[in-house]
Amino acid sequence: MSTIEGTDLRKITDGRQYIDSLRGRKLKVFLFGEMVEEPVDHPMIRPSINALAATYDLAVEQPELASVVSPFTGERISRFLHVCTSADDLVMQNKMQRKLGQKTGTCFQRCVGMDAFNALYSVTFEMDEQYASAYHRRFKDFLTLMHRGNFVVGGAMTDVKGDRGLPPHLQQDPDLFVRVVERTAAGVYISGAKAHQTGCINSHYMVVMPTMRLGNRDKDYAIVGAVPVDAPGITYIYGRQSCDTRSMEGGDIDVGNARYGGQEAMVIFDRVFIPSKYIFMDGEYDFAAMLVERFTTYHRRSYVCKSGVGDVLIGAAAAVAEMNGVTKASHIKDKLIQMTHLNETIYGTGIASSYQGYPTKSGCYLCDEMLSNVCKHHVTKMPYDIGRFAQDLAGGLVATMPSEKDLNHPEIGALLQKYLRGKADFTTEERVRMLRLIENMTLGRNAVGYLTESMHGAGSPQAQRIQIGRMMQLEYKKRLARILAGIETENENGTVIEELTGYFARVFKLV
Ligand code: SF4
Ligand code: FE
Repeated sequence: MSTIEGTDLRKITDGRQYIDSLRGRKLKVFLFGEMVEEPVDHPMIRPSINALAATYDLAVEQPELASVVSPFTGERISRFLHVCTSADDLVMQNKMQRKLGQKTGTCFQRCVGMDAFNALYSVTFEMDEQYASAYHRRFKDFLTLMHRGNFVVGGAMTDVKGDRGLPPHLQQDPDLFVRVVERTAAGVYISGAKAHQTGCINSHYMVVMPTMRLGNRDKDYAIVGAVPVDAPGITYIYGRQSCDTRSMEGGDIDVGNARYGGQEAMVIFDRVFIPSKYIFMDGEYDFAAMLVERFTTYHRRSYVCKSGVGDVLIGAAAAVAEMNGVTKASHIKDKLIQMTHLNETIYGTGIASSYQGYPTKSGCYLCDEMLSNVCKHHVTKMPYDIGRFAQDLAGGLVATMPSEKDLNHPEIGALLQKYLRGKADFTTEERVRMLRLIENMTLGRNAVGYLTESMHGAGSPQAQRIQIGRMMQLEYKKRLARILAGIETENENGTVIEELTGYFARVFKLV
């Protein structure tokens, strides 16, 4: 029996209550070859919990930004649990993400569940329409339960995949994609593993989903369901991050960002039971692609979070330039302008995708696929460029500084205080702290989220290129060119193609 399922559903309203809600669960978490007694108190795990707690605290500080009134319970809940019923709702998600990126300087881990909810809301509706199933009602009941507790729900999508050239049913080991291993009248049992699951240990529930388009021989892999994170049969193996053990050294300077960090873990399911009430797809393989595409459409523009993190890094680069006494150099200002231009390009495309959102049959709004893919594709490159500028402005010291212990050493401490000093207006410790923050974000623990996670999260760059290629409507564009070149003429009513579909239909508001 899961400890979450067994307890009273008391609504979580702030970060402190959230952190308390994670205590005393019997999660099986491995880190450094040992089982973790209490993740909440583990110095390497705690910064990721603090980052998630910030989502609750923001809802208290700025309720209009980070919370909504639940249509199911009538109470205020986190915006991360909200199903969007307007383009404005989608836009507000992005604004909240930018703000949280600014406040934490890292991944706050809550968007996967949010984007999965929105995708599932419309997909279960359309599945029911086709198969007269009851998934949508079940899903709404589940949502209501999550709203009551104001819970954190993680989305578990990325299978470990084995041989990438083979579909799930042809893998030598059938567990390389999560699958149903037994069906009973009460529900199903699943086995398999999901890789690099963001914030899974910090969640209350997890929604398991297929990772890609499936065929009719992959029916057992077409499973969507919710499980409490401490359901029997789940094992978590914590992912290491660059410089992660610095948070176990005692000080708070070398770690760079002592309060906040991200979290990724491998999740292994060994005959984990999903009761029927929490099953939202079982065997409808033909809807797997729709679910994955809608989820990634939401999630690829959720990477606007990185523009908030970018704001912190631009600020750190500007601050360190000031401490180095070089603000008057024209190239410094120019580099800060270039960093800002890159950062706003990420934000601009993400938020445009939300503004160009449109209703699905269920009434839930979906953002624009083209612009969300363009946003995420920018994110696979631009944070690296911004990080390069930050390291350029920081100088080589960002990678060679002595440790906090040396800085405070009775014999050599004073020497370091003297020789690491920059402009006299700032203390040596201030300069070292700022450099450590840049190190943290471009080489250390939060570079995992700002750089590599930007590359691969919500699909690696090629995945976006494939989608952009599918949507680029070259025939339409060729016809525009042929008309102006005098090879073809417009239609009688002055249009280029009468039944314009896809991206340009959204651009010109035909849908
Ligand atoms: Fe949210 Fe960004 Fe973290 Fe993804 S990487 S969960 S979008 S904060
Ligand atoms: Fe991610």
